[in-house]
Amino acid sequence: MLFAAYRKEPGDTVALTEAYKTTMSDSRRSEFEKIADKTELTEAEVDTLRESVQKTLAQRVQPPVLIKTHNARVRHNGVPMIRRELTLGGIYILRNPLDVVDSVADHWGCSIDQAIQMMGNDRHTIGGRQDGMIKQYLQTWSKHVLSWTEQPAFPTLIIRYEDMKAAPEMTFRNVLTFLGWKIEAIRVTAAIDETQFEKLQAREAEDGYQERSDRSLSGRFFRKGKSGDWENVLTEEQIQRIVEDHGQVMRIDYGELKKRIRFRELLERIGWTSVEGRVDQLCGPCPLPECQSKVSSDCSKRKDRSFSIQTSKNVYLCFRCGSAGNALDFWQAYRATTLYEAAKELIQIHETSN
Ligand SMILES: [Zn+2]
Repeated sequence: MLFAAYRKEPGDTVALTEAYKTTMSDSRRSEFEKIADKTELTEAEVDTLRESVQKTLAQRVQPPVLIKTHNARVRHNGVPMIRRELTLGGIYILRNPLDVVDSVADHWGCSIDQAIQMMGNDRHTIGGRQDGMIKQYLQTWSKHVLSWTEQPAFPTLIIRYEDMKAAPEMTFRNVLTFLGWKIEAIRVTAAIDETQFEKLQAREAEDGYQERSDRSLSGRFFRKGKSGDWENVLTEEQIQRIVEDHGQVMRIDYGELKKRIRFRELLERIGWTSVEGRVDQLCGPCPLPECQSKVSSDCSKRKDRSFSIQTSKNVYLCFRCGSAGNALDFWQAYRATTLYEAAKELIQIHETSN
């Protein structure tokens, strides 16, 4: 939804209310009924119609056209939910499952425990005969993620819900680049402004919103729009269950993170300046709090060059306190926190500095 107000064609930005009414989805029962020219479709009939519906949607506008889907990349009755030959690429929105459960529970009008169960269910489907949406095959949360992100059939851009919140402009630009759409700064700003969570919420209160489920507990689709609220919502036991079910997939890609963080920029952010610098190596006082307390006077602190970083390798070493490692190790020591917390902070720092 963040991107609904941005169009690649020259001309005016489509008003959001119009844009979200025209968002295309592969799951609307009405599309299937139109093509079959009948109602009361069986699941088998739905499966045989999937290809024609997807083709029709794809042909409606010049490519690339964005079509929303809930499906995992799986087959049902031999029918692929996502057709490779009709797909240029995927944009996968990934959200922390700890936050997803709360949202799912509200959307479907069930308890958090039931939502956790749903997300761990290999046969999890949504929609069906009594619904405006045809049946969609989700599998478990982890399998869903992997079905999209670990597949070579077509390129897939993974964007994190948390990044859409914390760094909307960067995330949006990444999406536009991926789509090969022209980036126009004014429109980027306008699109992000139009899709501020508070604005969407206000608009929903006024006009309603078609994606809202009738079972929603809060009666809203745009409910909280928060990241990290799971800490206030879930019990220890619930957190543990989710981590047991999905820990493998949830794990942060530490290796990738280490590569992405530029050590020198990170040090600049915390106000560190080097005393001495060569092309590849910078020396100065050690910024680690513990180490600083060992240096006696302010004068010697200024001349201190016990700490050095090798910029090309992104590593550091302090010969006074002996601390050494990569940017992630450094941040963990500097903040005196856990590896997981340090990684979370670095991700945020990295995104906001881009
Ligand atoms: Zn030190």
